[in-house]
Parts: sequence; structure tokens; C-alpha cells
Amino acid sequence: MPSIKDYKIATLGSHSALQILKGAKDEGFDTICICMKGRSKPYESYGVADNIIEIENFDEFFGLQEELIKQNAIMIPHGSFVTYIGPQSMKKLKVMHYGTKGILEFESDRDKERLWLLDAGCKMPRIFDKPEDIDVPVIVKFHGAQGGKGYFVAKSTKDFYEGIKDYPGNKKYVLQEYIVGVPMYTHFFYSPITEELEVMSFDKRYESNADSIGRISAQDQLDADIRTSYTITGNIPLVIRESILPQVFEMGENVVKASQKLVGKGLYGPFCLEAIIDPNLNFYVFEISARIVAGTNPFINGSPYTWLKYNEPMSTGRRIARDIKMAIEQDRLDDVLG
Ligand code: ATP
Repeated sequence: MPSIKDYKIATLGSHSALQILKGAKDEGFDTICICMKGRSKPYESYGVADNIIEIENFDEFFGLQEELIKQNAIMIPHGSFVTYIGPQSMKKLKVMHYGTKGILEFESDRDKERLWLLDAGCKMPRIFDKPEDIDVPVIVKFHGAQGGKGYFVAKSTKDFYEGIKDYPGNKKYVLQEYIVGVPMYTHFFYSPITEELEVMSFDKRYESNADSIGRISAQDQLDADIRTSYTITGNIPLVIRESILPQVFEMGENVVKASQKLVGKGLYGPFCLEAIIDPNLNFYVFEISARIVAGTNPFINGSPYTWLKYNEPMSTGRRIARDIKMAIEQDRLDDVLG
């Protein structure tokens, strides 16, 4: 019988690597952590990596592949890995990879992503083709603005042209309806082995300075001339109002179904819908991440939802390893590799 002892689980030392590696070890796999030089301390200290390989830069990763292939390593992608390698180069990876690589192209292209989510029936914020069309407050999102830094809100066409003066050189942007509500990031998992969609957990982000502006009065905000930024610094766990849960399951299932029309085996493994819920409980999805998100990091020991389902600690990282383990033991590894 095929055994998990014949395989290793590998990932890049950043983002959600701690829970991916810990989860893999909990499921019985040996682990490999590929780290930028000088950044291996957490992986040593928490004892999650059986083997740490240090590299000077991410281009070196491609040279490592032969070694990883020799060791039968299965690479788990996460946000930093996809960013550093790039969605196009991802397709050229030769090492075994958990998840459909092609789907990453749809999450990294705002237009393709939008068509996918609309096809899945998600409600999304309106998009304005040109500043002259602005008739509700909009959030101006620049392309490549990492971590929401430098976005600004404009309530009219005039306001937009005033605001954009502060961003010379930033020509590419999206004008998206600004939804007044609360952020809610839902972490899903779809297993091609069990063919079941699971709701793993929820979080919101802890953003600087958006999450601190309310600590001073509106007058002080004006006096200090503070501009809102959304630089992510951490994640805060949440539970959702229970009556919204049926809608959440339905959304996740529809997104998976719609993805199967787009590319190969479609979307499977972990993914996240980033949304704002307005006071009428409308769920406005503004983005999808088609891989594990760092918002699952508070749940290394499991979330209230995974506790309901598993009765044992089950992080998203561990769930990935379990999917791979089930696939190996059922001789279906191809079903989880992309
Ligand atoms: P990524 O998730 O790819 O890193 P990002 O961090 O650059 O993207 P977003 O996640 O798109 O940026 O948004 C940053 C912040 O702006 C988030 O806190 C989110 O809640 C808020 N936001 C985004 N879109 C909207 C919207 N349409 N209405 C209200 N708030 C929004």
C-alpha cells in the first residue's frame, strides 16, 4: 500500500508555513522548510521543520527543484510563495504541487476574478469604468498596492481628482464601490477526495492605520491630516452570526462549481472569500484567495468550526496534509496535485 513515509511536505518559510509544517507533522509527514537566509529562526524554534534549506533569493528555488523531486516533496503554495514565484512561473514548476496552478491566474487578474465570482452568484461591489461615473463613495485601489497601502476613498468625481493628485505615477487603478459594513474573511476547504466543502474559520485583518484611526476624535484626525491605509499587521479570529452560515456554505460551493468551468480540476484545497457585510446582512465579496490565507493562522489548534467537525485540533495546514494523506492511501495522489 502506498505510504505517506514515501513523501515529504515542503513549503517556503513565510506567511502560513508554521501551521502548514506543524499540520504535516501532526499527520505523520516529514517536512522541509525553504527559507530566505536569516529568516529560519521561527521554523527552528517551533520545531516544525525536519529539514531547513536556506536560499539567498527566490530565483534559487527553481534550482532546488531537482533535490525536492528526489525527496518526493509535495510543495504547499501560500500567499508569499505565489507572490514571489509569480502566477505565470508557477505553471512551470516541476516539483509536485498541491492545488490547481491554473486557478492562481484567475485570482491574480481582477477582471477574470470578477467574472468567476459573478458567475458563482456572489454579490460584489460595483466597479466604475471612469471617474466621471462615480455616484457613490468609491475605494480607489491601485494595481500592485501590496497590503492595501495607499488606497483612498473618494465620494465624488471631484473628490477623486483631488485625491489622485497625491499619487502621481499611479496610473492603473480600480474604482470600486465603497461598502459601509464590517470585513469578514471566510476560510473554506474543498476536498476533491471527499468532495465536500468545509467552512474552516473566519477572521478580520488588523490593519495599520485603519484600525487605530477610531482611537482619536474626528477633529484630531483632521488636524493630524491622517490618510487611511490598510497595511496588514496581523489577523483577528471571528465567529459569524449563525443564521448567516447557510449562505456561507452556499457561496463556497458555488465558487467551487464555477471554478470547474474555468480550468482543469478547478479550485480545491483551502481558499478564502474576502467580503464586507453591510447592515442588511448583504455579503459583498471583493476578492478571492485561491490558496491558504494567513487569516487561518490564529487557528493552529483549530477553530470553533473545525472543533465541531473533527473533535481534534484541525488547522487549515493540517487539513491540507490530511487531504494529501487520504489521497496517498487511496492511491489517488494525482487528484490533489496540480
Ligand atoms: P490583498 O488581499 O490582495 O492583499 P489588499 O490587502 O491590497 O489586497 P484589499 O484586501 O483589497 O487590499 O483591501 C484592503 C482593505 O480595504 C481591507 O480592509 C478591506 O476590508 C477594505 N476594502 C476593500 N474593498 C472594499 C470595499 N469595496 N468597500 C469597503 N472596504 C473595502
